[in-house]
Amino acid sequence: MSVLSRPYFHDEQAAFDFVEAIIWPQGPVCAHCGCTDKITAIKPNPEKRVRYGLKKCRDCKGQFTVRMGTIFEESKLPMTKWLQAIYLMTAAKKGVSAHQLHRTLEVTYKTAWFLAHRIREAMRSGELAPFGQGGGDVEVDETYFARDRRFSHRGGKSMKGVVSLVDRSTGRVRSIVVENVTSRTVGKIVAENMAQEARLITDSSNVYLRVGGTFSAHVSVNHSKEEYVSKLDPTVHTNTVEGFYSIFKRGMRGVYQHCAPKHLHRYMAEFDFRYSYRVRNGFDDNARAVKALEGVVGKRLTYRGGPNVRPQAAPV
Ligand SMILES: [Zn+2]
Repeated sequence: MSVLSRPYFHDEQAAFDFVEAIIWPQGPVCAHCGCTDKITAIKPNPEKRVRYGLKKCRDCKGQFTVRMGTIFEESKLPMTKWLQAIYLMTAAKKGVSAHQLHRTLEVTYKTAWFLAHRIREAMRSGELAPFGQGGGDVEVDETYFARDRRFSHRGGKSMKGVVSLVDRSTGRVRSIVVENVTSRTVGKIVAENMAQEARLITDSSNVYLRVGGTFSAHVSVNHSKEEYVSKLDPTVHTNTVEGFYSIFKRGMRGVYQHCAPKHLHRYMAEFDFRYSYRVRNGFDDNARAVKALEGVVGKRLTYRGGPNVRPQAAPV
């Protein structure tokens, strides 16, 4: 049996049952009044349009489904397609392009583009707890992203910086997009996202010098002198965060080459999510998809405008 033969990828009722079990582990919650004990399922009337998962609250008399208040709201796409899209995006290490979703799911390119951005929003963790709590090691590095190589000089308008922190104890990564990489911008991000008792590990870039002094220790490797792992202390290296950047860069070059810099933070959330919930951290493809589904609540998104890129293939 393949993964793709699972009922919730094909049967709309099974898809609703699957999503409800994740979003409502204790049973349905009224989307209008929060009531939990007077909810009844409405039997579909075959004479009318069948509305899957429709519930009625006997307290406030309101009707609702599990879609309300989530990224699924205001979408007419069947839940089976949402689940297929979430599985594809959470399982593919370097991501899945909107073109690929458009072809695989047989939805229009525009639908695929909105779908992908909403799923990225579900992947955004929103966690604010500082890394390195209890005195752990945190690797920090910065990189640049440009959509177009012609503008890839530092400080160019279509150029953005990214600062990423890796907590070595939890294996998680957190990335923040910045307009310019300076001591001030990077220092602020590091200070806000790292516990003071942690040890900061960076390369020898001087953007970390000032903020480095505010932690229990700041150690670095000097890449310009071909030092990648300290000879005195082999735990001093930035290989973990650089490994993350190599996955990110392969994805952006190979899959998301049309990403507009203004959307970069959404793509970073996607790469952060997959890396933080990778197999080495105990998440298989299934567990990772469930994790993304847990993030769909409270993330309704409405976009002005739409895809920046014309579809290469005609929309279905
Ligand atoms: Zn109610």
